[in-house]
Amino acid sequence: MKPAALLIAPPVYDFAFYDLFVRPYGLLRIGHWLEEGGYKVNLINSLDPRDSETMERQTGVSGWTPPGRTGHGTGKTFRRRLESPEALKSTPRAWTRYGIPEEILGRKIAAEQPDVILVSSTMTYWYPGVREIVRLCRKHHPGIPVVVGGIYATLMTDHCRDICEPDVVVAGPALTGLKVNLDSFGLPVPGGEITEECLIRPVGYLDGGVLRLNEGCPFACRYCASRLIDPRFVPGDPDRQFSFIKKLHDATGLANYAFYDDALLVNKEQVLFPFLRRIIDSGMKLSFYTPNAIHIRHLDEETIDLMLAAGFAEFRMGYESADDAFHERMDGKITAADFSRVMAILKTRGMTGDRAAVYVLAGLPGQYRSEVEESLTRAREAGAFTRMAHYSPVPGTALWAESCRASRYPLDKEPLFHNNSVFPLEWEGLTRGDILDLKKLTGSSAAT
Ligand code: SF4
Repeated sequence: MKPAALLIAPPVYDFAFYDLFVRPYGLLRIGHWLEEGGYKVNLINSLDPRDSETMERQTGVSGWTPPGRTGHGTGKTFRRRLESPEALKSTPRAWTRYGIPEEILGRKIAAEQPDVILVSSTMTYWYPGVREIVRLCRKHHPGIPVVVGGIYATLMTDHCRDICEPDVVVAGPALTGLKVNLDSFGLPVPGGEITEECLIRPVGYLDGGVLRLNEGCPFACRYCASRLIDPRFVPGDPDRQFSFIKKLHDATGLANYAFYDDALLVNKEQVLFPFLRRIIDSGMKLSFYTPNAIHIRHLDEETIDLMLAAGFAEFRMGYESADDAFHERMDGKITAADFSRVMAILKTRGMTGDRAAVYVLAGLPGQYRSEVEESLTRAREAGAFTRMAHYSPVPGTALWAESCRASRYPLDKEPLFHNNSVFPLEWEGLTRGDILDLKKLTGSSAAT
């Protein structure tokens, strides 16, 4: 009989949650590797907004409406208001659990007969969802090993071990850790690598697929954890990724796909261009999105035209600040001249409004309101749709120690304080009121 692996993506506890292509990408890759290696694999996605059991239970409840979805892979999911945890009582927002209700999740987990359970983790401050899943697994499958991996597990390994209490925490890229642990559990170890190819299960993609061409990012921005999670930049294989997307599209009919790349445009002539040409030649009518933002510096006429021909529905770009000194200090990834050049090209291609959007970073330690305001204003004047990326401190990044010193919260002890909704880096130069005020400068300018 085949060994059985149960993969679980946890629910989210937060003040707000919007599914902008949030998919259990790591689990889907591991799931494919296990399935190819002879495992029976099942996936429970706690954020599934169409779960039939939850729908059935909620239908008819006064005032309830199904979670709204956009139709291209994003939208809301089930939610339930809860009392805030003690640490967050002073934040005047509604603490909410997002996902399939716990009792229904418990029944789904109980119905499985796994030999090993793998749980994913993402944001550090979403650990309560991971802890809930580990507890449910312990309750329904005592004695079955529970492994937690992913971003939170990598960045806060000790916290995950102590607070969530799985049998094993896998930090960093999954392959080595998983191989060792499967072996120690007495389970077969599949050969080969964990590739970018993913398990095909509709519940893993919901109504929009995800893909990644390149692994990691060659930049080292002081506020970002990309290198801690993927230490190397590894260019992807365009032919292999095209074959997978074709297979996924044929199997599911999904037409909307989000790139999970941190550096999609790096090495573009060798990776992105051939991938897009194969998409165009295939005749598939797909729409592509870039929720992680792309590098403005690498955009030019040829790149933009190819992306548009292949079906890019929007350009979300990492602008961060209008101040060249900011980029010299923090990331070195863009200059004001790059930005003007790219916005001019996008305008001639009719990419206006929210189809040409930039992220402006706000809330870094010691950052002044005037810098954020200037950045939002300049970006809007150039015709960009502005989105504020409100800084969340991330353990292990170059800005972490400075963030810990500047915050009034014990960031190193309680990850719930990493949540930007608590305004962890509020100071007199940029207050909670300033941030709320500056949000009025996001979106399109009246002139565009
Ligand atoms: S912010 Fe973007 S460019 Fe900078 S290191 Fe992170 S992923 Fe790379």
